[in-house]
Order: sequence, then C-alpha cells, then structure tokens
Amino acid sequence: MPSSIERILGTALAAPFYFGQILIQKTKPGGFVLSHRDDHSREDLQRFRNPDDAIEIAKYGDTGSYRPLKTAPNLRHGWRLELADLEELRRALDYFYPARLAVFATWKGGKLKTTPLREALDRQSGMYRVAAKISDSQIDDLVANFCRSNGGCLRTILWKRDRDGAIASTKLPKEKFDPAWDQAEASARPGSTIPATVPLLCQEACNLLIAECRKVVKGK
Ligand code: SF4
Repeated sequence: MPSSIERILGTALAAPFYFGQILIQKTKPGGFVLSHRDDHSREDLQRFRNPDDAIEIAKYGDTGSYRPLKTAPNLRHGWRLELADLEELRRALDYFYPARLAVFATWKGGKLKTTPLREALDRQSGMYRVAAKISDSQIDDLVANFCRSNGGCLRTILWKRDRDGAIASTKLPKEKFDPAWDQAEASARPGSTIPATVPLLCQEACNLLIAECRKVVKGK
C-alpha cells in the first residue's frame, strides 16, 4: 500500500523534480535531498537534516526580508536539506509551501473546488468588505501585477474572476493558468532543461490579494 505522499507525487518521485523553486532529488534508498533549484551545482551549501529546518529556511529571502507569501519567487539560496524518508519529505514540503501538496492531490483526484474572486470578495466582512467594489478593469491590472510568476507568485491560477467564468486577468499569459507549465522556469531561464515539475496550485484568492483589492478601492 503506497504512502499518501507516494500517491500524491506518483512518478515524479522516480527522478529529480521541481516543486516551486525547490529541486528534490533521491539519494540513498528512501532518502531525499532538497535545495534551491538554482543551487544544484553548488558545493558550498549549508547543510540541514531536520524537516523542521524548512520553517526557518522559508521564512526570509536572500536579503533577510520576511516572506509573507510562501509561494513568492524569493526563496533564499545557499542551503541543502537532507531527509531520511518520505514522511520527512512531506513535512518539509508542507513547511516550504503550506497546503500545496494537499491541494495538488485533491486536484489530481478531480475533486478540487475553486472559488471565483468575486465570490471571495463578497464574503469579506469588516474593513475588507469594501474590497468587493473593485472594478473588472482594476482586477485585470491588479492580478496581472500581484500574481505574476516573474516577481509575484509561482502558483498556477485555477480560479475565475466571477461565476460566469471570466478569466482572472486578461493581462496574464495563458501559461499562468496551465498546471503543466513550470512557473518558476518561466521567470528564470527559458529554454533550459527542466526536470518534472509538480505545480503549486491556487484554488482561490489569498488574503494578500484580497488586501490589495481593498487598497485599490481605497485609492491607496
Ligand atoms: S491569489 Fe494565488 S496566485 Fe495570486 S498571489 Fe495569492 S496565492 Fe499567488
């Protein structure tokens, strides 16, 4: 009976693969080594051996600034995380990219529910209620800027703008909505050889985007 992470990742586990900006490689039987995908040929990496170390690695970027959005393309460089087995791999990946493995598994099983942005905005209360007043053209500009893979966020957008199925932003490339596309590669080195990629999926607008919608409406 395969473990749940084996069921989730499937054939990706057989070879090196990318999950966001992380390169995951098999080592000794059952073990794995993780690093920033840009660091695959570096030998001077700081070594870690506990899956919980992923919490600190993921907390700050290269410049030492806090990373409020864990799927932003600013994961720090210079580390190597050695893990003993699949359970440690699952824990570490959940620290790097919270809930993304579970969302990927649900999507693979055909059961992922997505929430249109306008529905997410309509259910806001208190100081965020005003965010629902954002116009369609403002959403086009905001989402294109805030969610873009190059400098914004590496998730693949699966949600629509409204219940009628309007695209989240007409100003993003079609690849931003394609789970087969490597969002990190799109922003880094077009044309280089790409291992298999497990996508980071976005099933509904995050709190940070909702807060940005409010700012737009308030004219901030
Ligand atoms: S809404 Fe989704 S794609 Fe956009 S920034 Fe938030 S998590 Fe990333």
